[in-house]
Amino acid sequence: MTLYRPAQAIINLAALKHNLQQVRKLAPSSKVMAVIKANGYGHGIQRAANALSACDAYGVASIDEAITLRQAGFLHRIVLLEGLFSEAEVIQALNHRLDIAVHAFHQLDWLMSLDASQHISIWLKFDTGMHRLGFYPEDSDAIAERLSQLKCSTQIHLMSHFSSADTDEAFTMKQFNRLLEIDKRFQAPKSIANSAGIQRFPQTHMNWVRPGIMLYGASAGVEGSDETVNLKPAMVLKSKVMNLKWVDAGETVGYGNTWQAEQKTLLAVVAVGYGDGYPRHAPAGTPVWICGRKVPLAGRVSMDMITVDVTEIADQIRMGDEAILWGEGVTVDEVAEKCGTIGYELLCQVTPRVPRIEIEV
Ligand SMILES: *Cc1c(COP(=O)(O)O)cnc(C)c1O
Repeated sequence: MTLYRPAQAIINLAALKHNLQQVRKLAPSSKVMAVIKANGYGHGIQRAANALSACDAYGVASIDEAITLRQAGFLHRIVLLEGLFSEAEVIQALNHRLDIAVHAFHQLDWLMSLDASQHISIWLKFDTGMHRLGFYPEDSDAIAERLSQLKCSTQIHLMSHFSSADTDEAFTMKQFNRLLEIDKRFQAPKSIANSAGIQRFPQTHMNWVRPGIMLYGASAGVEGSDETVNLKPAMVLKSKVMNLKWVDAGETVGYGNTWQAEQKTLLAVVAVGYGDGYPRHAPAGTPVWICGRKVPLAGRVSMDMITVDVTEIADQIRMGDEAILWGEGVTVDEVAEKCGTIGYELLCQVTPRVPRIEIEV
């Protein structure tokens, strides 16, 4: 493949495998559902599925993602985490042997037409406090009644989702205990822990853990965990210095003239911008890794370029030098924090025009 622009995302398959092993170490008694929705958090869904094939199941957000995996030959259990969006998907879920989350009565109704020869694996999703999707605990009797009316055979799991396992212990425990309470009615395998829950609350691991972000080596926001849990970034977003130029003190740089040189300044123009998914709202001072140093972004992010103040490495920097936006020297979480967002968003946001280059080291 000829790369005409130097912006690229290096995806390290060994890092994905390593991170899955870290999940296994943290949750040795649980099965692992590797969450690879949103194109594997930007890493490529098939690539992520391949590297993470030692998991026990994949979690995806939509049926097309699941079918992509089936067509690529993956035989694993695949769970549609939000279930079906329309009744028309019931038959596809059956044909492709997909597990479905069922979070509301209308989704249960769609299963009424299935006959006794058919089988479906259902993850009953309960709302224990997130208030987005899921049945209320009080719905349990009505759910059991509907399930008993289904003609098809079913396998049942229970699931719920933490809203703040990174920050709020009391609330997390409340959610966990609600799921335990619900289970008295169903007595089924259970799952509630996302990456933050996996790292912070071992008692919540239950039968299935559902790691997403930690598989990609980024932070789930758990204070202290980034040091204690040994994760490796699976993506390095990088490009190259495409121009170097000196500007005089007092000159402004970039769109809107928002940045002004306080002294005679050497600028490196790096071939990456918001058209590649580098966040446009990254402020001046956001670190970029060049010549083994953190150097600050200067001026606004353009579609295809950024400008970086490299005065302090003026002696070393050369045209064509590598510039790392995140994944080595600078973490995606550092960039995210500067932008008022989270690593998840930046990883998902890397655009299709950025070639994903696989390595395994
Ligand atoms: C995305 C998702 C996860 C993974 O969450 P992380 O914070 O990335 O670990 C787990 N469960 C469900 C239902 C999800 O939608």
